[in-house]
Amino acid sequence: MTRESSEVAIIGGGICGLVTALALERRGIAPTIYEAASEYRPVGAGLLLQTNALLVLDRLGIADRVRDTGTPLDDSIIRSPDGRVLKRFDLDHLERDEFGHGFVAIHRADLQDLLVDELDTDVNLGMKCRTVTATDKPTARFTDGTRIRPDVLIGADGINSTVRNFVAPGVEPREPDLIAYRAVATTVEVTEKHRARGVEVWGTGTYTGGAPLGENRFYWFGTAPMPSGKDPATHAETVSELREQFAEFPEPIPTVLNSLGRDDVFVTPLEEVPRLDSWSRGEVCLAGDAAHAMMPFAGQGAAQAIEDALYLAYSLSATDDWTEAFAMYERERKPRADRISSESRRLAKLGSIQSGIGARVRNMAVGFIPNLLFQRSRRQRAFGTSLPDDPI
Ligand SMILES: Cc1cc2nc3c(=O)[nH]c(=O)nc-3n(C[C@H](O)[C@H](O)[C@H](O)COP(=O)(O)OP(=O)(O)OC[C@H]3O[C@@H](n4cnc5c(N)ncnc54)[C@H](O)[C@@H]3O)c2cc1C
Repeated sequence: MTRESSEVAIIGGGICGLVTALALERRGIAPTIYEAASEYRPVGAGLLLQTNALLVLDRLGIADRVRDTGTPLDDSIIRSPDGRVLKRFDLDHLERDEFGHGFVAIHRADLQDLLVDELDTDVNLGMKCRTVTATDKPTARFTDGTRIRPDVLIGADGINSTVRNFVAPGVEPREPDLIAYRAVATTVEVTEKHRARGVEVWGTGTYTGGAPLGENRFYWFGTAPMPSGKDPATHAETVSELREQFAEFPEPIPTVLNSLGRDDVFVTPLEEVPRLDSWSRGEVCLAGDAAHAMMPFAGQGAAQAIEDALYLAYSLSATDDWTEAFAMYERERKPRADRISSESRRLAKLGSIQSGIGARVRNMAVGFIPNLLFQRSRRQRAFGTSLPDDPI
């Protein structure tokens, strides 16, 4: 079956696809979204949205709603496994005073619901793209036999992108050497001070932490080395093993883990997409994890996807020449995303040090780094947000 489609088609209805659609709608372009999943499931994970993501969402008129749905954080703290405070970041002061927005922790499913609700466009669910080709127009074929030929095709289909196979054939995510455990505790009572505080604990070979999501919910994550030669999904540690491993860690980690059920934790290999030469080919373009999936240690993957979305919509509305639009988008977005991806890789190396001495030296060094340096880097990140000159 071949069907007429609107001019702009988006493959992937995750955070990037949904925000791109919203940004296009705000500029008077009605896209069509094709999402592989047959329904949006409440995947048990949270997200920390940093100030740059909020600045973009503000342009789209939804920052307040995102903040009210999630949990604004007053501060964030880095501890060592024995509980020592290595660093404390006052998010209220720097981010909110200077930029009007701080960090917000939010359940992924809540963010997804909110974005779908904001859209006029319906998401076409159960539409898994199988291949992308192009002769005179881009052509996407789906597993159910549907074929579309839009004027422009945007690949927002995540780290294992099918669209990327057309834009950058042969590029695969790097083999992971770390895995992440994630869960959302839904019936946990954390103490007052943890109700608006993000937490990280830098251990030996593990990096763990989380953030409150409101209503007795708390998002927890932890990383571990990839079990050698094994499928992480089948060799993941059980909740009881995780509880044991983190029993002596500072609160609220043990309390949160104690409240989890055996099926609450899921495991993901931590992969990243190698730097691409280009994010587009002809009338096909990539955004979000499809273009630049990065290690999660800088907490910037979704934020960068959100920045892509706004700028791509701006570029597509600024000119009728798609090639020029993609060039404008890449000029602004690629250097920044590539830089932040490299930073995330460096942080991953630091966060996963497996020697006890190495981890102790790292933690000591973190304690000695002046707050001013951390503040400067957070300020630069927010200042560098890709915001088009003309407001929507
Ligand atoms: C452990 C961990 C913690 C993280 N924490 C944070 C954080 O705190 N803050 C932050 O900013 N980022 C974080 N990230 C990164 C963030 O999750 C991603 O960068 C973000 O989800 C990317 O959004 P996306 O829409 O590009 O991709 P995805 O969220 O992967 O969405 C892709 C969508 O495309 C669909 N799809 C896939 N293939 C097809 C196909 N062939 N046809 C049609 N549809 C398809 C998928 O079903 C999915 O809905 C974290 C990542 C990990 C792994």
